[in-house]
Amino acid sequence: MSTTADAAPADAEQTPAFSLELSQDQRDIRDWVHGFAAGVLRPAAHEWDEREETPWPIIQEAAKIGLYGFEAMGQFHSDPTGLTMAIANEELFWGDAGIGMAIMGTSLAVASIFGSGTPEQMGEFIPQCFGTADEPQVASFCVSEPDAGSDVSALRTTAKYDAAKDEWVLNGQKAWATNGGIANIHVVVATVDRTLGSRGQAAFVIPPDTPGLTQGTKVKKHGLRASHTADVFLDDVRVPGRCLLGGKEKLDAKLARAREGASSKSQTAMQTFEATRPVVGAQAIGIARAAYEYALEYAGQRQQFGRAIIENQSIAFALADMKMEIDAARLLVWRAAWMGRTGQRFTAAEGSMSKLKAGEVAVWATERAIQILGGNGYTREFPVERWHRDAKIYTIFEGTSEIQRLVIARAISGRQIA
Ligand SMILES: Cc1cc2nc3c(=O)[nH]c(=O)nc-3n(C[C@H](O)[C@H](O)[C@H](O)COP(=O)(O)OP(=O)(O)OC[C@H]3O[C@@H](n4cnc5c(N)ncnc54)[C@H](O)[C@@H]3O)c2cc1C
Repeated sequence: MSTTADAAPADAEQTPAFSLELSQDQRDIRDWVHGFAAGVLRPAAHEWDEREETPWPIIQEAAKIGLYGFEAMGQFHSDPTGLTMAIANEELFWGDAGIGMAIMGTSLAVASIFGSGTPEQMGEFIPQCFGTADEPQVASFCVSEPDAGSDVSALRTTAKYDAAKDEWVLNGQKAWATNGGIANIHVVVATVDRTLGSRGQAAFVIPPDTPGLTQGTKVKKHGLRASHTADVFLDDVRVPGRCLLGGKEKLDAKLARAREGASSKSQTAMQTFEATRPVVGAQAIGIARAAYEYALEYAGQRQQFGRAIIENQSIAFALADMKMEIDAARLLVWRAAWMGRTGQRFTAAEGSMSKLKAGEVAVWATERAIQILGGNGYTREFPVERWHRDAKIYTIFEGTSEIQRLVIARAISGRQIA
């Protein structure tokens, strides 16, 4: 969700050791989330994928048992080793990625408020992101635009300050926003001074029912179809001064530093992204593991030429490779999750490595699973084709695989690789 990367590296004596042996708390949370994923998400996955709608009844069920909400996020995040958030995400997305994203999509907006907001802003806006157990809400984090995807420095959405009213006025178009238009809280990143590129940008909370914010086209997608994705239009959207995350004084100081050409805080931003990427990687691992387990079971049952297909080396070796790659990806994810939570320095973009590896393993493993199921794998009667469609987004959003490679290459070389 958020990061401690901004903080000074923790005292070595107090830093929880990296351990593959899960604590009782971690095992309990894993089993609890797994139970919900197996009992509620799995049986509902096909229906909501076909409907291509936000699964509100399931979000409500998750809220009722305390798996969706402010407390759950706090509980997952409070683990000092950082692993619980990754473990919970893997289990949920093992159940279903579309519904998983409908439940977890809110955490992007929450992470930005948590990462950039003042204590007052966190107290006011984070609970509104989730709503209540009886009436759950979702939140949306809107950065991407039609002409600014990988290149976030090219944002055109503007935020202008109206000093007389102490209000910010936002205008522009956001693209691809998860929960865009249906969210209670939208966090919108806009440019305050375009000449400064990403250093001239700031994030604003748009409170519920603010006039001027409207939903554009809802996107029909290849996968993650139970998760709502849409354009968002901002037409003279006025928000009070307190909606600027971090406050005006901090923004003015940042802009002044940037105008003087002083060293930027891009290192801090990079550390923040590195710390949030493993959670996205954990989601991809959940999908890959679902496909691996299903294919393993199927290969043991399916008979051809008088024997189970798993008794052919080509099938058994494919499953062996799937298991190995998934475990390798999880190790990268857990390492980066631990580094982010304990304030270690990401010297080789370890967070990007974990997201890149997990996303590519998920696409590859789900494709292998389709192959192992043969014709059945290619139909909507079996879940592996849906898992393959869902997995593909993990090489695209939260930084494409190419952008992750760029970040890693720059980190290890110290050069501005283009
Ligand atoms: C389902 C879904 C949900 C999303 N949710 C959100 C959300 O909630 N909030 C949000 O703000 N955004 C969201 N996004 C947007 C997502 O983050 C962008 O799609 C992503 O960053 C890529 O941007 P783009 O689509 O404009 O591709 P482009 O940036 O146009 O990239 C196209 C291709 O060019 C490659 N490329 C670009 N630049 C380089 C380079 N310098 N070197 C090498 N290759 C390069 C890319 O890797 C990619 O292969 C979502 C997208 C999807 C599909």
